[in-house]
Amino acid sequence: SRAQAMEISESPDVRYEDIGGIDQQIQEVKEAVEDPLTNPEIFDAVGVEPPSGVLLYGPPGTGKTMLAKAVANETDATFIKMAGSELVQKFIGEGARLVRDLFKLASEREPAVVFIDEIDAVASRRTDSKTSGDAEVQRTMMQLLSEMDGFDDRGDIRIIAATNRFDMLDEAILRPGRFDRLIEVPKPGAEGRRRILEIHTQGMNIAADVDLDSIADGLGEYSGADIESLTTEAGMFAIRDDRTEVNLQDFESAKEKIERSDDDPDGVIN
Ligand code: ATP
Repeated sequence: SRAQAMEISESPDVRYEDIGGIDQQIQEVKEAVEDPLTNPEIFDAVGVEPPSGVLLYGPPGTGKTMLAKAVANETDATFIKMAGSELVQKFIGEGARLVRDLFKLASEREPAVVFIDEIDAVASRRTDSKTSGDAEVQRTMMQLLSEMDGFDDRGDIRIIAATNRFDMLDEAILRPGRFDRLIEVPKPGAEGRRRILEIHTQGMNIAADVDLDSIADGLGEYSGADIESLTTEAGMFAIRDDRTEVNLQDFESAKEKIERSDDDPDGVIN
């Protein structure tokens, strides 16, 4: 049903300062999404069109969803999320109908930020266009494009999509007037990892022997989501040991545990 497929939030609880290591990307999202909502006159005055849609791309767990939620929060817009995989339906016409519902809902709740996660599920380059399932996905994508073509860029609805598979996307969705602002959201560097660690340990009872700088240095390929798991796991080690303070050993044990369980093929850190 419509309610199941979409996640709606009047005020998502993410703020820009909760997002670490991607200040540049926050800035770009502000320009592309926030300014057209809060200051549309400036685009008129200068005589340029704001980007129609924003595409965030990069590895999983780097903060793409957070960015979309934060910009909705900061602009007091309704946040409406749909996963591309939800748009791939069994019945003919179902995906297109969900897309129409999505945009209808957004226009009832504007200002709104529409966030389509896993956009690749409906907008990949066709592999075998002869299968009927593929034709259905194609129709869903066409509906999405026509909805985007159908409204004023300076309106109160902004569209953000995200993907981990930029290489798979059909170029049709990247044309001007569609997802015409691309923002890469990479894994954090050492600085960023340090900041993300700081964010996720803020509310924790951390022992004096814990040096966040040196922990961050040792987290080579960790994404923001991996760093969040690390802090939670470290806390769990302290709890198992009946301590209320999380020490360096807990972080080391957590790291070992995460990297061990990451030997599976779906692992993020490799
Ligand atoms: P996916 O592609 O898997 O949907 P994503 O890029 O949208 O991932 P998010 O859902 O934004 O990732 O992040 C998942 C969780 O990981 C967040 O709720 C947050 O706790 C943590 N996280 C990820 N990136 C960051 C970051 N840059 N700063 C702080 N926390 C982060």
